[in-house]
Amino acid sequence: MSKYDFDIGILGGGAAGLTVASGASRFGAGTLLIEKEKALGGDCLHYGCVPSKTLIRTAHVYHLMKNAKKFGLPDIEIKPVDYRDVARRIQSVIDIIQKHDSEERFCKLGVKVEFGNAAFVDDHAVRMNGNTYSAKKWVISTGSSPDVPPVEGIDTTPYITNKEIFSLDSLPKSMIVIGAGPVAIEMAQAFCRLGTKVTVIQRSGQILSKEDKDLADEVMRVLMTEGITFYLNTAIVRTGDSGNGREVIIKNREGREMSLKADRILVALGRKGNTEGMGLEEISLNFDKKGISVDERMRTNHAHIYAAGDVTGAFQFTHAAGYEGSIVLSNAILHLPRKVNYTYLPWCTYTHPELASIGMNEKRAKESGIEYTVWKEEFRANDRSLAEGEDTGRVKMLLDTKGKPLGVQIFGPHAGELVSEWVAALNGGVKLSTLAGAVHPYPTLAEINKRVVGNYFSGRIFSDKVKKTLKFLFNFKGRACGNE
Ligand SMILES: Cc1cc2nc3c(=O)[nH]c(=O)nc-3n(C[C@H](O)[C@H](O)[C@H](O)COP(=O)(O)OP(=O)(O)OC[C@H]3O[C@@H](n4cnc5c(N)ncnc54)[C@H](O)[C@@H]3O)c2cc1C
Repeated sequence: MSKYDFDIGILGGGAAGLTVASGASRFGAGTLLIEKEKALGGDCLHYGCVPSKTLIRTAHVYHLMKNAKKFGLPDIEIKPVDYRDVARRIQSVIDIIQKHDSEERFCKLGVKVEFGNAAFVDDHAVRMNGNTYSAKKWVISTGSSPDVPPVEGIDTTPYITNKEIFSLDSLPKSMIVIGAGPVAIEMAQAFCRLGTKVTVIQRSGQILSKEDKDLADEVMRVLMTEGITFYLNTAIVRTGDSGNGREVIIKNREGREMSLKADRILVALGRKGNTEGMGLEEISLNFDKKGISVDERMRTNHAHIYAAGDVTGAFQFTHAAGYEGSIVLSNAILHLPRKVNYTYLPWCTYTHPELASIGMNEKRAKESGIEYTVWKEEFRANDRSLAEGEDTGRVKMLLDTKGKPLGVQIFGPHAGELVSEWVAALNGGVKLSTLAGAVHPYPTLAEINKRVVGNYFSGRIFSDKVKKTLKFLFNFKGRACGNE
């Protein structure tokens, strides 16, 4: 008989924690799940993916209404947005999904769910609400929080983060967005489309800094045409409350200072792992400002304590958290050693058009010193894109010197969906020739995946050598019209 109350204890009921909890319990392990907030689901459900994608959809519909003429429709009278209605729609979507992540559902799966603030008292036990809970193994999956810059005045300047933005009681007339990562850029476009005057401040010379500059610049260009103002290579000197709004003093590379004013400031600079208040220091668990350090099997420096999801500071996506949760299950519950492999971890920034990525982009290939070739196909050459009125963007495929795919970036309509074909192809080791030969339905956006591969093969197939051979074999007459 184990001397512990549970086989596995999990701190944090978000994407990572819920994956471990449901899997462990279904494998028959006595599972305890402790969540700090009043409901399960984590940031993704309450303050992240779900509300942001719901908001983005609403903003897109409003954008289409304003652009009805572009589709051959009559101009329509558009009323201003009442953000309380938008917030209500967001909450209604959260409520539906919440049922899937409910305490009842997890209890039915066999998981003991407790709510409260737990802190480790030793490396096998936590204390919470006056009780001690011990487990043979633990998983820390407490997620992340917005990183607030150490800027003069920020402590006394009212600002919002992803925690407040989806439940505002009115649409801001103007908003300054600090940061230009995916969250910042998605929110900037959505609010701009709803009618807010949006200004984005970015320290470096590029938005979406993990992406290739050419594609990130294209996203910025689209957002600028929609009315967003960008200040790149810009530092924040201080923030303040100007009485009739918030103020941000910025400084450009030449040292020139400028004052920006807006109704709201959105801080979306990045995330830091939630490591505070859990007694991690008491059990000498290794962590830093970014999060908890783990090895490839998601183990911390205590081999029976694992960490997964945003709290590790690695790839901060819901699907990465779920994947890491599955690695923990393999190692901690099934005792099957399994390592994480992020080679083909896809992600997408849900601007419109979207920017999706899998594998290496040019930036990472250059950093790794890998030789590559780039193959492109434009959405404006895709029939369905034209029919949809969505002809901005392109697919960029990187191949190594042997013609093996290194990665694919898609900037265009439904890029997040289109990249899934590459998820299957790259993970399954599907040959490019198979993809090029596979019949895709017409007219679809997905044909662009086949076309970009076709571009790689067409030079070889329709080469002079092949033409000469065919002429020799079949006595072809050659061009029937015009000169080459
Ligand atoms: C605005 C926004 C949009 C996003 N959009 C996307 C997207 O489109 N696609 C995507 O893949 N990712 C997106 N993300 C990222 C995604 O939300 C996170 O990567 C994901 O939620 C991480 O899951 P997690 O389980 O690590 O953490 P979380 O989902 O945050 O779960 C952590 C849980 O731990 C709890 N907790 C914290 N401290 C304690 C404690 N001491 N004890 C017990 N419980 C604790 C928290 O309350 C929370 O419920 C977005 C994030 C934001 C902010």
